[in-house]
Formats: sequence, structure tokens, C-alpha cells
Amino acid sequence: EAKRRGSNTFQWFSPDLDLDTQQQITLRAQLQEAIQTHQFEVFYQPIVSRNGAVVAVEALLRWNHPERGYVSPADFIPLAERTGQIVAMGHWVLEQACKDAARLREAGIAQVSVNFSPMQFYRDDFIESVAKLVAKYKIQPNQLMAEITENVLLRDSASALKMMADLRDLGLEIALDDFGTGFASLSYLNVIPAQKLKIDRCFVQNIESNTRNAAITRGVLTMAAELGISAVAEGVETEAERDYLTRYACDYMQGYLFCRPQPINKLLAWLDHK
Ligand code: C2E
Ligand code: MG
Ligand code: MG
Ligand code: MG
Repeated sequence: EAKRRGSNTFQWFSPDLDLDTQQQITLRAQLQEAIQTHQFEVFYQPIVSRNGAVVAVEALLRWNHPERGYVSPADFIPLAERTGQIVAMGHWVLEQACKDAARLREAGIAQVSVNFSPMQFYRDDFIESVAKLVAKYKIQPNQLMAEITENVLLRDSASALKMMADLRDLGLEIALDDFGTGFASLSYLNVIPAQKLKIDRCFVQNIESNTRNAAITRGVLTMAAELGISAVAEGVETEAERDYLTRYACDYMQGYLFCRPQPINKLLAWLDHK
């Protein structure tokens, strides 16, 4: 069935629809099939501390499409958020992370970060579903870090803040992801109960020579330190970037320089040989 459909599926739909819409319908159907036939995988990317130790990993969703191979989350998550399919997908990622948490802990990795979509926060059963997974896999809740963006506050900020407080009560930690790319990061920093702040890759790129990126990142590092929030630099690709961030006391880093996102077995093998 998966083979028979594939990328030509849009021709089954009315030619009156513009291609964009047709492609969206196709993609939506393919995502549904992917959920049902288990085409998703979770990769993990290390988050390293200043002394180079891998202290945490971020769980990143991968779609292993039968014909197209690995499809980037950037190509399907935006649609999945619009259709609501992200809720089931996000729950599945969280369950995999909970399942893998024990093995990761044995390997010395204390925390697993999971990306949460705003859509997940709009569900009444959200907190309950998280609590159930924590209980089912008998993990310590502080092993889980919920990565959210400020978009979570766009629709119903009062209920989203309540859910974040509930997540904290449950024992999870919260990271503010893609910091600096939104419209209201500074004011949101005052209300989101975050323990970590992830500086977006766009501010990290060429930080050793890009004086604007350097100024912004140094400012964010100072602010985070004074607020008692730890900082993670995202997308560190070069030694020059790492050295600069180390000089300015960035707490944690994540990026291809250290390790690309990997299936858990590859990650554990990599840790063994490190
Ligand atoms: P993000 O949460 O900011 O994740 C970091 C992204 O940066 C990942 O892209 C990662 O592979 C990439 N990255 C890490 N190091 C480097 C580097 O050195 N250079 C470059 N160029 N990129 C680097 P990925 O895996 O393609 O995910 C993209 C976005 O999709 C994520 O951004 C996140 O917003 C979303 N996403 C991924 N998995 C999930 C999920 O399970 N649920 C939800 N809601 N969103 C997810
Ligand atoms: Mg993230
Ligand atoms: Mg990010
Ligand atoms: Mg990002």
C-alpha cells in the first residue's frame, strides 16, 4: 500500500485544487500512514558540558519514508502542526524517550530533551498523558526536559502557562528552544518557568568573526547567568565557535562538531569509543 501510493498520490485529487493544497493533502495522508505503519524513528543528539561530557541528549523525530528515505522534520512538522497529527507524533516521541531513558542513564546521560509542540499543550489530557508515561516507564521526571518555543503562548497563554506549571510540578524541566528567533523572547522569559535557554543556531554561526552574533550571544549568556538559567548553544559546527563560546562561559553546547543526531544504538556505541 505504501509503495503503491508514494509521491504520485496527488494525481488522485481534484485538479481544481492548487498544487500546494494537493501536496498538503498527499502529505497529510502519508503522515497518517506513517503513524499507522511505524515509519517514524527517534534520533538522539548529545548535549555536552564545558568539559566535554555528554550530560543530555535531544530526541529528534525522523521520518523514514519507504521511497523517499529520511525526510527532514522541517518538511513535515509544520503541516503536522496544522492538521493536529503532531499530537500523536509528539506523544510517540515522548514514549520512545521514556523507553530509552533507562539505557541512556546507564550510559551516564542524565537527561533527555523532547520537543513539545504548542498543539500538545492545547489538549486537556496533556499533563495526564505525560504523567502516565513517566509512571509506565518508572523514570524520574527530572530525567525529562520539555523543549518548548515561545509559540506555545500565542493562542491561550494562560492555559499554556498553567500546563507548564503542572509539568514543573510533575518534576519535568523546561527549556526555551530557539531563543532569540521569535518576537517576544525577552518578555516571555519572565513568565515561562524555564531552567534552560537554547540559543538558536543563527546566533552561533561564525560567532568568532560575526561581531553582531557575538554581541547578541554574549548578552544572552550574561542575562541567563544572572537569571539563574543555564544556556545551551545550538548548532555548534566549528572549533572556532566552540572556543569562543567556551571563553564566554556558555554552559552547554550541541552541534555537528560534537555529534550528529543518531539512532540510540549508534549513539551508545559512539559514547563507548569516545
Ligand atoms: P530544534 O528543536 O531546534 O532542533 C535542533 C535542530 O538543529 C535539529 O534539526 C538538529 O538536527 C539540528 N542541528 C543540530 N546541530 C546542528 C549543527 O551543528 N548544524 C546544523 N545545521 N543543524 C544542527 P532537525 O532534527 O532537522 O529538527 C528540526 C526541528 O524540527 C527541531 O528544531 C524542532 O523544532 C522540530 N522537531 C524535531 N523533532 C521534533 C519532535 O519530536 N516534536 C516536535 N514538536 N518538533 C520536533
Ligand atoms: Mg529542540
Ligand atoms: Mg532549537
Ligand atoms: Mg532551532
